[in-house]
Amino acid sequence: MLRLCQRAHASCGACCGLYNGVDHSRAALTDELWRRTRALAREEKAEPAFKACGDRLADGLGEPVFPSVRVCPLLGFLDEAGTRIGCLAHPLATGGPDLRAAGVYDVMTCEAFLCPSHAWLSEEEAQLCEAACGDWHLYGLVVTDVPFLRAVLGAVAAEVGQRVERRHLDHAPFRKALRALLAMKEALEPGSEGLFGAFRPGRDGEPVPRRIDYERLERGASPWDQILLCIGADPRSGNDLDLLEDEIRRRLGAAAAAFPAPGKAARRGP
Ligand code: SF4
Ligand code: SF4
Repeated sequence: MLRLCQRAHASCGACCGLYNGVDHSRAALTDELWRRTRALAREEKAEPAFKACGDRLADGLGEPVFPSVRVCPLLGFLDEAGTRIGCLAHPLATGGPDLRAAGVYDVMTCEAFLCPSHAWLSEEEAQLCEAACGDWHLYGLVVTDVPFLRAVLGAVAAEVGQRVERRHLDHAPFRKALRALLAMKEALEPGSEGLFGAFRPGRDGEPVPRRIDYERLERGASPWDQILLCIGADPRSGNDLDLLEDEIRRRLGAAAAAFPAPGKAARRGP
């Protein structure tokens, strides 16, 4: 069965509300995750203590971008180096008790929830995402946005004339260039809500589909419309469409140039 939340080289906490804040930059989220991790580490491993600590931590959170999506203060770093994120109330993190009821959902919801990417992504696409992103901040943004991942892989395939396969990412220059292209997700204006991809918050806080209004901008549709849409390049999101389109052109060109020529891709395994 496809597993996306905790993989060998990547982890995600998007459905625990990780990105649901105005400042969802890597620096801001890193600080926030450490704040929670350190606070919860001082607590007794018991539900009342975790609940009280979670309530105090939640007080320090800003307004969510999507009010209907809960932000759980029990998400934090699972390792001392801060390379892996996950639920600090999970039995594997507490070393015994299941304290997830102290979070914003009940235990059954936390245990059973699988985001739609589990139904849409193939294992190969998940491996491509994991290998290219390589860390929690970018991985969570990309693995939850299947149209974006497919649009990027499709754009590279169109440039190089063949499908991108996992073995191609063993070629370090291409892996780096593909990561840079996926990192368009992190290249948005601070404070813009573009990270939420092809959706933006509606008046009632529910996600509504985004559409780039090319007519109003008096220009034709971009050849990379899907990528632009998914990174939230809609000027109404607070981003500069032309600037981001130029950046995609540049990063896509670099990825195509670094694509391993036939026979150049490093071999994997025996
Ligand atoms: S958003 Fe999806 S991949 Fe990420 S932690 Fe939740 S269920 Fe797992
Ligand atoms: S308690 Fe549930 S919502 Fe909160 S961090 Fe853990 S898994 Fe996520």
